[in-house]
Amino acid sequence: MQELKDKFGRKITYLRLAITDRCNFRCQYCMPAQGINIVDRKELLSYKEMYRITRVLSELGVNKVRLTGGEPFVRKDFMNFLESLSFNEKLEEINITTNGALISSHIEKLETLNINAINLSIDSLQKEKFDKITRRTVFKDVYNSFEKLEKSKLKLKLNVVVQSGFNTDEIIDFVELSKDKNIAVRFIEEMPFNGKGQRDMNEVWNFNKINAHIKNHYPHIETVLSKKSSTSLNYRIPNYKGTFGIIPAFTRTICNDCNRIRITATGLFKNCLFDGGVFNVRDFLRNGASDDELKELFIDTVHHKPENGFIAEALRGVDVSESMSTIGG
Ligand code: SAM
Ligand code: SF4
Repeated sequence: MQELKDKFGRKITYLRLAITDRCNFRCQYCMPAQGINIVDRKELLSYKEMYRITRVLSELGVNKVRLTGGEPFVRKDFMNFLESLSFNEKLEEINITTNGALISSHIEKLETLNINAINLSIDSLQKEKFDKITRRTVFKDVYNSFEKLEKSKLKLKLNVVVQSGFNTDEIIDFVELSKDKNIAVRFIEEMPFNGKGQRDMNEVWNFNKINAHIKNHYPHIETVLSKKSSTSLNYRIPNYKGTFGIIPAFTRTICNDCNRIRITATGLFKNCLFDGGVFNVRDFLRNGASDDELKELFIDTVHHKPENGFIAEALRGVDVSESMSTIGG
């Protein structure tokens, strides 16, 4: 079988696909208060195009897809797209990253589809703080979704972006959520993908600092063995039902085992979160590329995947500053 392998021997089996660049929140670490300049609808990949790209990639060994955005649930007919994608038997895992505001009425349907896990972004357990971070009054809806998801059959992971001066005092509260709930709480280092670049921070809450903070609180912490390609390093407090993990998104110590590529909502192919985009798949599709031509292009592009995020960032020549909402987090 043809496969996607880079020149460092890393096999690519995981696609992160952004469903849209639109979002109903304005998280302060992701975009400016006034939002980002969204593109014209016709510039977005259609569901048919996304389906085809995913099928072609799955024939090249991609067996895991994460649907993200922007907020996937704000795009009309997202559930229908999910349903068609779940018929692709080559996909062993379909995961969704969501802000949780619109998922609640779809949970029962999601349980019947071939969905592996929901990653729910929730950066504070306190209403006022949550509203400040998201710049919307949405805490109640998101918390309801959290409770409903936790009771559902779906595997649940929580994404918490650790923000200096905002939610670092809640890190232990989040770990404590894993005491009675079978969830995976993941702390993410904040990155400068907010439409502006690096934010002013009092302290840098990187992997080591988050780790030391938690270790300081608990006398014993067990390491949980995870897949080699896992983005987070995972742990458990003895006898707790769930786990917690830390994602070194910015310090980038996980690049050696990277198995992923990204496609943005407008079809930009990214070999690495930190690169500037390699080519536009949408344009190739709309110019009539055959499946074989697409495969050749994917194989060739992946071969040139940069060794790590620092090299990718250096090669792009300009500082990273675009919004995570356009990249697909
Ligand atoms: N709207 C959905 C959500 O918030 O879950 C999906 C898209 S969002 C871009 C995907 C993930 O990226 C979220 O967990 C979000 O917290 C994270 N994210 C966004 N901007 C980030 C940044 N500057 N640094 C670290 N993580 C970020
Ligand atoms: Fe929207 Fe997700 Fe970005 Fe927040 S992190 S603004 S919910 S895309």
